[in-house]
Amino acid sequence: MKSVDYIIVGQGLAGTLLAHDLIEKKQSVLIIDKPHAAMASKVAAGLFNPVGVKRCIRSWMADDFLPVAIERYKFLEKKLGSTFFNINPIFRLFPNEANRKQWQGKCSNERMNDFISDFEPPNSYSFLKDEFGGASIYPAGNLEVVKFLDASRLFFKSENCLIEDKFNFKLLEADVGVYKGIQAKKIIFCEGFRAIYNPHFKYLPFSPTKGEILTIRIPKLEKFEKIVSKGVYILPLGDHLYRVGATFNHLERDELVTTEGIAYLHDKIKQILEEEYDVVSEKAGVRPTTRDRKPFLGEHPKHKKLAIFNGLGTRGVIQGPYLSAHFTTFLTTSEKLLKGADIQRYKGLF
Ligand SMILES: Cc1cc2nc3c(=O)[nH]c(=O)nc-3n(C[C@H](O)[C@H](O)[C@H](O)COP(=O)(O)OP(=O)(O)OC[C@H]3O[C@@H](n4cnc5c(N)ncnc54)[C@H](O)[C@@H]3O)c2cc1C
Repeated sequence: MKSVDYIIVGQGLAGTLLAHDLIEKKQSVLIIDKPHAAMASKVAAGLFNPVGVKRCIRSWMADDFLPVAIERYKFLEKKLGSTFFNINPIFRLFPNEANRKQWQGKCSNERMNDFISDFEPPNSYSFLKDEFGGASIYPAGNLEVVKFLDASRLFFKSENCLIEDKFNFKLLEADVGVYKGIQAKKIIFCEGFRAIYNPHFKYLPFSPTKGEILTIRIPKLEKFEKIVSKGVYILPLGDHLYRVGATFNHLERDELVTTEGIAYLHDKIKQILEEEYDVVSEKAGVRPTTRDRKPFLGEHPKHKKLAIFNGLGTRGVIQGPYLSAHFTTFLTTSEKLLKGADIQRYKGLF
């Protein structure tokens, strides 16, 4: 019987990061992936931001996640001979005077000033509605997720470790870790929100969130160096193009844009931009978000040959590299998983 150390199901952001880590630890890997409509990684703007902007607080484990993410994506750019990682400030526009004061207070009292700087006075930019000014979050930026996944896919194909196929649960022998006659030490599911259809892991409390985005063209603004954030983000792509997103919809799980979602984005853009713009494209995808907003990592409670690496939610780019390295250590040594990420916390639901 053919054998492999790990079968990974799904080559979105989660499966890609994990496959790179395992291969670098000299493990043999077979990725089975069939791109589906609505996959999150193909739509994401890929922003990473260590600050929760609404309350001006450090996001969960930001001090651990951020340095690992920066080092990892820079390393992967070199490994794959491509560029897809950009470090740029996020310019938070204050919606009102109270918010401006809150941010100033947090910076002087709560050690937030290692991420926040450059408070700018009102009306500094003619093309922005910045009547309450803003401040910059740094380090921050974005991963060009599609470019990273495409470069990785070429790499995995050149290593003969990727099969383009839909994983068929009828052909899985869950108790012994055999799929289509291939024996694996573990079969790791990285299916994004489609984990809700996985017969072995659908007991986990996923809470998928559809998001819609726009690509717009601003004729009078070739490129603003910062990413602007106020309700939505506006990410400069170059050559007058900008990505705008995103909406949050807990009811739908498809790749179709909606009249309400697009109207919401236009409304937010009008609260930010003074300039005219045209719409270039509209897209939607579904985030693998979870009920407690924490990732889902770990072994199946009954079938020890099955595991999951999922639940990257709205923050896959910043938390993915740390969690992937952590999960790889868990798989290849006996180190325990982070309690907040380990699916053991839901064993009562199984
Ligand atoms: C509109 C939007 C905006 C976002 N913006 C950001 C952002 O700015 N920053 C950020 O960090 N995150 C953002 N995200 C979230 C981010 O996209 C996710 O955290 C991340 O991409 C999840 O990756 P994943 O690999 O878990 O899932 P996915 O990207 O969905 O990948 C899953 C893969 O598994 C495959 N698959 C599933 N089932 C099977 C099967 N049975 N057989 C074979 N293959 C299968 C799918 O086709 C797909 O290729 C955004 C998401 C959306 C939708």
